[in-house]
Amino acid sequence: MARSSVAKVEIPGGDKPVEGPIGRIWEGDFVSAFSDVFPWKEQNPIDAEKTAALIDEIRTELLPIVNTTSIEEEREVPIAVLEKMSDLGLFALKVPEERFGKGLSQWSYNDVLGFLGSVSSALAAYASAHNSLGALYPILYYGTEEQRQKFLLAVMRWPTGFCFTEQMVGSDPASMQTYATRVRNEDKNLIGYRLNGEKWYTTNALRAKYLAVVANTIDWKHQLLPGFGKCFSLFLVRTDSPGVIIGPPNKFAGMHGIDNANPQFRDVFVPLDHRIGPEGKGFNIALEALNTGRIAVAAIASAAVKQALSISREWASKRDQRGLIGKYELIQEKLFRMAVELYAMETLVQCAASRSDRHLDASVEAAAAKIFATEVGWQCVDDMLQIRGGRGYEASESLRRREEWAPPVERIWRDLRVARVFEGTSEILTLWDVARGLYPYLGLAARAVSGGVTTKAKVGLTLLLWHEKLRFSKRHNWKDVPPELRNHLDFAERASRQFARQIIGSCLKYQKKLQHKQLLIERMFWISARILTIALVVARASASGRKEEVALADAYARHAAGEIKRLFFEWGNNEDGLVRPSAEKILGGEFSFLERGII
Ligand SMILES: Cc1cc2nc3c(=O)[nH]c(=O)nc-3n(C[C@H](O)[C@H](O)[C@H](O)COP(=O)(O)OP(=O)(O)OC[C@H]3O[C@@H](n4cnc5c(N)ncnc54)[C@H](O)[C@@H]3O)c2cc1C
Repeated sequence: MARSSVAKVEIPGGDKPVEGPIGRIWEGDFVSAFSDVFPWKEQNPIDAEKTAALIDEIRTELLPIVNTTSIEEEREVPIAVLEKMSDLGLFALKVPEERFGKGLSQWSYNDVLGFLGSVSSALAAYASAHNSLGALYPILYYGTEEQRQKFLLAVMRWPTGFCFTEQMVGSDPASMQTYATRVRNEDKNLIGYRLNGEKWYTTNALRAKYLAVVANTIDWKHQLLPGFGKCFSLFLVRTDSPGVIIGPPNKFAGMHGIDNANPQFRDVFVPLDHRIGPEGKGFNIALEALNTGRIAVAAIASAAVKQALSISREWASKRDQRGLIGKYELIQEKLFRMAVELYAMETLVQCAASRSDRHLDASVEAAAAKIFATEVGWQCVDDMLQIRGGRGYEASESLRRREEWAPPVERIWRDLRVARVFEGTSEILTLWDVARGLYPYLGLAARAVSGGVTTKAKVGLTLLLWHEKLRFSKRHNWKDVPPELRNHLDFAERASRQFARQIIGSCLKYQKKLQHKQLLIERMFWISARILTIALVVARASASGRKEEVALADAYARHAAGEIKRLFFEWGNNEDGLVRPSAEKILGGEFSFLERGII
């Protein structure tokens, strides 16, 4: 299908079909989606051993010098801790061993970051902002051999930062204002760039020696005016270069100890060999780094849910309020949801990591894993706080003073919240994921919108035939799946076909307006994610064969089926139409009387 035709009915990002299993679910072909993930691909055993050994080293060598209370209170990680992290190779986790890195796969990298995150979010932030993004990724994957020789060793030893966000640039990168003016010598040969602008929220900015900066490349300042095209390139900038000013540390609701600031660049000279990748490629490098970075964010969120489950289980089995609270159904439901959702999110993270390790496109699965683990994970850590009651809201130090059991509930709760915001907000990733899933439909819809009567009739017929074909199930055989899980696959298979049929209906109904139906888009995302996770948990539990795991997969699949049925119901029965006019009234101040009586 020609790209240009798709552009007519456009949701940004929907310009490429989805290769992985989630793409087949969007097409109503669950049988192919399942055969993509079954038999389940386990972590490579050598990798698993390597990871376990590294985590042991972190336990014995790093943890004794980490004082999480002081990191929380001082909002700073001591230099000695960073030096130890460096000695342990934690700033070269994915760098191949032949280049003197730890050579971890994405799967193992996730495990290490999850473990670090369970110790301190600040330590995980140092490691993930550097290893997933920072200057490391661009040099490793886009640097020339000369650049790798020159910079890699230094960059592997100390945290670096990645500068993308600006005051006017969060979810809308096209408004980027930082620019790099080409500098030429007398012979008109390009020798470097002058960098100007200000970046926001750069993690590791204060301690970093190098920052990777994305900027619009120009010759003359008038090229910054609206109407001129953008040429985003990526530059490696030494933080001790004249003209680099790193602002005061930003303080956040959680993640105390994160190193984060807004760097300014005032006429900073960047030599030519500090540009990584070709001119114009900076944006793509950033997006690629973010694709795998998101899997790690999801892994850290899953680790937070593991802590939530462990703390909740322990408290619910010892807190007595006219009986153990763990015996009450309202508490049991929270424990149940935490366990089954954790199993699903961990499996989804593993699926995305495994695709990335096999060099398959994992971008859609990575975004889905990040949305799932951070959104559902947030509900889980909130439930943990609720189960702990007043003690859940109380800081650990305060509890410790009274010699109470003091798990870091309040810290985990505060720290996880931001994961729904950074490395792509849940809203933006949802829109993007769905745009990718809708690719085959949007292409057809675009042809119908732009074409003449004959094209419209042809497209209508194609959609109608597709719609009718989806009434019939593809031949399938779940014989290698434990019998108690097979009916879940039958359900998911039917749900996937119903999903595709309803999408066709909505494409025909809304056409170009579909891109503005964000509430419908969000339902589409969750239906696709729930169907995918049913496939994944069944595949994983079947491979394990352990009866506890089969029971967990069975419980998750029932829970997910309930969610899918609710979402299908709401697809056709909702009050979405009320939202826009009401929100417009709210934005216009018509209900501002509600805001009276506050400071
Ligand atoms: C602790 C922390 C660390 C960070 N580290 C880094 C870093 O190392 N490097 C870096 O470059 N950046 C970093 N960031 C920035 C982070 O990536 C951005 O905050 C994030 O991308 C969101 O951008 P924004 O804050 O400008 O929000 P906005 O883009 O202004 O969004 C505000 C709200 O509007 C929603 N929204 C926006 N557009 C749409 C739409 N079309 N439809 C529906 N909803 C929409 C968003 O989802 C969000 O809920 C960090 C931020 C934090 C808080």
